[in-house]
Amino acid sequence: MQIPEKVISEIAALTGEGNAEVRAAFERKTNTSIRINSQKVQLPEGLQQVPWCKTGYFLEERPTFVTDPLFHGGAYYVQESSSMFLEQAIKQHVSTDEPILALDLCAAPGGKSTHIISLLPEDSVLISNEVIRTRANILSENLTKWGYPNQAIVNSDPKFIGNSELQFDLIVVDAPCSGEGLFRRSPEAIHEWSEENVELCAARQKRILADIWPVLKPGGVLIYSTCTFNHLENEQNMTWLKEQHDVESLRISFQHDSILETETNDIFGYRFLPTRSLGEGFFLSAVRKTGIGKTQTGKSRIRTVKSSPASVYLKATENLVIIDQNGQHLLTNEFLASNMETLKRLRPLQVGTPLGTTKGHDFIPAQALANSIYLRDGMPSIELDQDEALNFLSLGSLSGNYPKGWHVVRFNGVALGFIKSVGNRNNTYFPKEWRIRTDLAKYPRPFFSLGNL
Ligand code: SAM
Repeated sequence: MQIPEKVISEIAALTGEGNAEVRAAFERKTNTSIRINSQKVQLPEGLQQVPWCKTGYFLEERPTFVTDPLFHGGAYYVQESSSMFLEQAIKQHVSTDEPILALDLCAAPGGKSTHIISLLPEDSVLISNEVIRTRANILSENLTKWGYPNQAIVNSDPKFIGNSELQFDLIVVDAPCSGEGLFRRSPEAIHEWSEENVELCAARQKRILADIWPVLKPGGVLIYSTCTFNHLENEQNMTWLKEQHDVESLRISFQHDSILETETNDIFGYRFLPTRSLGEGFFLSAVRKTGIGKTQTGKSRIRTVKSSPASVYLKATENLVIIDQNGQHLLTNEFLASNMETLKRLRPLQVGTPLGTTKGHDFIPAQALANSIYLRDGMPSIELDQDEALNFLSLGSLSGNYPKGWHVVRFNGVALGFIKSVGNRNNTYFPKEWRIRTDLAKYPRPFFSLGNL
């Protein structure tokens, strides 16, 4: 499919390269990369690191991730490398001396949210929002697997959040866009592109920025990104923001052949272009709202659960609290626990880590507890091989005789879920809606796993 001439010539004008060179660059295959959850597994040796992301790695081939139990256990996230540049913007411009309150406004499926939460100082909070409900469910699944308790997943229109009493130190707007950066891997993106759509996207992005601006605290940082190349959706929107409000554009000092830095109307922009990078196309620009504001902290009185049957499952959690939400015990932090009423108005899907519920004399641990980075290592555990783990993840079944009671099932040490042995059989508690639905027999063996690299 033909790449629109307008896109080619805009990139050529930006870089000084010829149209033919730019067109040829769109033919090159994109590379594959993953970001490791260093709270669950060690950083791999022998893989090429993504230069701008400490936990990002390139893979030589694109494997079948679905056959890797570690992927389902939240040990890593498959994310294209250009997007990982967000790390530099956060590390260079967001203070990590104190806990902060962060918002990921356009968050599904969760690439940026899983990254942001791994970078925030301890006791910080991330609110991840996705306006489209079905996509919010996927976001919730991915963040649950990633395993952090200091997060809330909400499903609101940006205007609604913009009208709340929250004040964020960091807002990430990874805006819906015309998707020129996806042309290399998606013919659909080429098919859907038009100049009118670029204009529609630019207008929608302005609306999103205007809606959310009131809840960025003075002194706070807004990081704006798109996966498109044109000026209209990128620099022009940032220029518009600068004309409307007192902002300082932030320079990111990171030199690399893959990245083109531009300065237009005192706005710094960072582009990953097809002629320079094998990752997808990406644009990022960061601004600080001028002024000085105070970080919000949750200091109101909260009712915590004094003794929870979930506590035996948990590592030390000094900065966290357990609260009771209609019989479900949640692990979260003070800020989120104190702001439950505000969060309720933002249509939350999940706040903190659901730990489980009490039924009669039994405590039924929640799946999110298995995925939690606070799950204690010493719990009774069953280590599965890859076939057993895939049976558990696809059929929800596990054979074998184990001592009666609850067990964590693991692959390569990473927890996948819970089973309860009742003597003659094992009851499994892996959520049906998370089960692998593809026919695994169609994939060639040996199956890929990060653990085997
Ligand atoms: N940040 C995500 C990640 O890294 O995985 C990708 C986000 S994607 C580029 C943009 C998201 O914005 C989509 O999930 C889309 O549903 C959402 N969106 C669409 N229209 C929106 C609107 N009017 N306001 C806010 N978000 C919107």
